[in-house]
Amino acid sequence: MPPCPGIDRHAHLEGGLDPRWVRDRARERGMELPAPLEALWRGEAVPFESFIQAFFFGCRFLCDADAVRDAVRAAAGRLPPADGGPRGVDLWVSPHLLVKQAAFLSLDALWKGLDEGIREAGRDGIRIAVIIDAVNHFGPGHGHEVLDLVLPGRPGWVVGFSTGGLERVPFRDWAPVFQRARGAGLRLAAHAGENGPGANVREAILDAGVERIVHGVRAASDPALVELLVDRGIALDVCPTSNRALVPDLGPHPLPLLLEAGVRCALGTDDPGLIPTDLPGEWNAARDLGLSNPHLETLARNARADAWCLGAPAD
Ligand SMILES: [Zn+2]
Repeated sequence: MPPCPGIDRHAHLEGGLDPRWVRDRARERGMELPAPLEALWRGEAVPFESFIQAFFFGCRFLCDADAVRDAVRAAAGRLPPADGGPRGVDLWVSPHLLVKQAAFLSLDALWKGLDEGIREAGRDGIRIAVIIDAVNHFGPGHGHEVLDLVLPGRPGWVVGFSTGGLERVPFRDWAPVFQRARGAGLRLAAHAGENGPGANVREAILDAGVERIVHGVRAASDPALVELLVDRGIALDVCPTSNRALVPDLGPHPLPLLLEAGVRCALGTDDPGLIPTDLPGEWNAARDLGLSNPHLETLARNARADAWCLGAPAD
């Protein structure tokens, strides 16, 4: 089997908190762990709404720059050991949730913790780029608030804008937000075709101008949509372990089909602090889907070719 590449193409800062760290912080504050979080840690599937509850629980402990730096460290620490190839993480971060909605910490503290974590990783040869995540189901007004928050004084390692959450608001409604983000120099991604239909992937690309799709697994059942992904060279960040936990009635994972069709797929861990995995774990999961060695080599090549972290400033 070819070696696992050193690039995690999709990981959330808030979803990567070390479970022991979360347990300790909860104990210190005398808080009970939410049932969905414990279910996820046991490897059980949960509804997406319960997943959001589990995701939100750990965020409250990101209350200063040191905690944020530790979370970046956890993301970098899940990469396979250095093997001479590039290593890095495309890291999704939700500043509006942490700073405005819940007010767990200030924007300055968030930027400081991220900067320290990114510099520390850089000293170990690990490149990290930050993609700002907004919440689809909060709607485009929320999207503009996210941009209002992050665009002034945006650090150089913030390279992209994305939506996540429940895919309930049509991407055509989000188009002005994506346009504004692109105008500010950010690259565009979206979680689509995960908890919503494959048609969302088409809308994200054609209506909102997104160049990269997170998951997109629902697109695989629509040959015309698969063709669109191939024709446009859209990068797909695929996270098999997360998909098994969060995508209902997925059936056989479509990664082999997508690769066979020529879609530019690469692997990510998504929320490895909630749904236990790491990059080598995803690599083994991909192999267990029956991928041939040439397909695994394609996955590794795509991981490097389309990673935004490899184009980010070195520190
Ligand atoms: Zn995600």
